[in-house]
Amino acid sequence: MPQDLPGVDEERLIDTHAHQPTSEFLHDAGGQMMEDAASKFGTNLETWDYETMREEYREAGIGRAVLLGWDAETNTGNPPVPNDYVAEVRDEYPDFFVGFGSVDPLKDDCVEEAIRCVDDLDLSGFKFQQIAQGFDPSDDAHDELWSTIEDLGVPVVFHGGNSTLGAGSPGGRGLKIRHANPMLIDEVAAEHPDLQILIAHPAFPWEKEQLAICQQKGNVYMDLSGWLPRYVDEQVLQYAGSLLSEKVMFGTDYPMLRPEDWLESFAEDTEYDEETQRKLLFENAEEFLGLN
Ligand SMILES: [Zn+2]
Repeated sequence: MPQDLPGVDEERLIDTHAHQPTSEFLHDAGGQMMEDAASKFGTNLETWDYETMREEYREAGIGRAVLLGWDAETNTGNPPVPNDYVAEVRDEYPDFFVGFGSVDPLKDDCVEEAIRCVDDLDLSGFKFQQIAQGFDPSDDAHDELWSTIEDLGVPVVFHGGNSTLGAGSPGGRGLKIRHANPMLIDEVAAEHPDLQILIAHPAFPWEKEQLAICQQKGNVYMDLSGWLPRYVDEQVLQYAGSLLSEKVMFGTDYPMLRPEDWLESFAEDTEYDEETQRKLLFENAEEFLGLN
């Protein structure tokens, strides 16, 4: 691997947060709110195939990636990245991709779809993006969904903190960032102690709340995706190397952030010992995803 991480085993790294570099995610599901994000951050919405993605990860020394589904259809009007499609892509690269489904909590059949994802499609967990999906996870209306996933015995990823979707547009395209306040996830975690929860991203501007929850709730974890390490809140980086060294994981938010760039910043801008690097880059994720 090109980065200067001598104590880290090549190919064992796990990216806990990857989206499709294809039109299914970037154009169809992303729609106008994704174009806002891209123009705000000076990127384009170019697409490429999974073979190119696999090769890019191989070159960065990463052996596995969690590929996330997306269904925010009710709130955004955009089509989902279907769960069958996620499973299909996973089946093409079964040693590389771990597939996470997505169900739209505002759809009447979300509980049935969650069961189908695990029982029929063999997906390994679920991803929720409360800002795009427009729901409050602590609302009792969703309790049956959390109980169902808890019973299915697979983990969930919730979005944490602000989102770039809709950035700079009037009203932010109607998206509400308060739905991704980790304090709402604290409620879910308290009522569903067997539900394993990963709060994705340093949850700006609520990183302190996120750290408190990860520390107090045995079933809550976090990842460092969506931000290059050099921009991550100092206290988050400090906790990742101490109190939460068993709880924090590596993730990119591909294709918005590229693995080589993330790992380069991790190698240059953080000062973890080799044991901690191994935990953050793959051991914690192996444990959380049950890959051991
Ligand atoms: Zn993401």
